[in-house]
Amino acid sequence: MNYIPEMKLSENFQLKEFVASQTAERLKIDNRPGWEAVINLRNLCQEVLQPLRNYAAEPIHINSGYRCEALNEAVHGVGNSQHLYGEAADIHLPSLATGRRWYEWLVNHTDFDQLLFEYRRGGSRWLHLSCRRNKHENRHMAFPNYPVAPRRGNGGTEVRGASKEGAHAV
Ligand SMILES: [Zn+2]
Repeated sequence: MNYIPEMKLSENFQLKEFVASQTAERLKIDNRPGWEAVINLRNLCQEVLQPLRNYAAEPIHINSGYRCEALNEAVHGVGNSQHLYGEAADIHLPSLATGRRWYEWLVNHTDFDQLLFEYRRGGSRWLHLSCRRNKHENRHMAFPNYPVAPRRGNGGTEVRGASKEGAHAV
């Protein structure tokens, strides 16, 4: 399949939003997804992200969507991450209060696999949400507080100013 950045996955989401990655750019990783992952991303948009977008009535920014193997390794994602299959996205939260409100709404109104309110000591937080193409496989696992280990630099100290994209374990 040819990669079409402007492809619409749902009314307010385009494929490129789930593919763009500073890390991939920096490391020259080709993060273009295959058609299977694109279909999963479209499903994620239609089932979870677009309904949230309609509820929020404001743009939803994707911190990290699809990750090929090389990119997932580069950002230290877990080995079986749903990001690898286009089944997951991490979204930016404009504020803690908004994040809580979105979380509650998603729990009560959408059919998801995992919904994790992830945070790292020091303040960064985001929502990880995932959805399976086969609805019957959705586990409806929701965690309102999901701590993620700090990123470690070579000297064992937390990496400061790391891109948001690097801020995920799942
Ligand atoms: Zn994630």
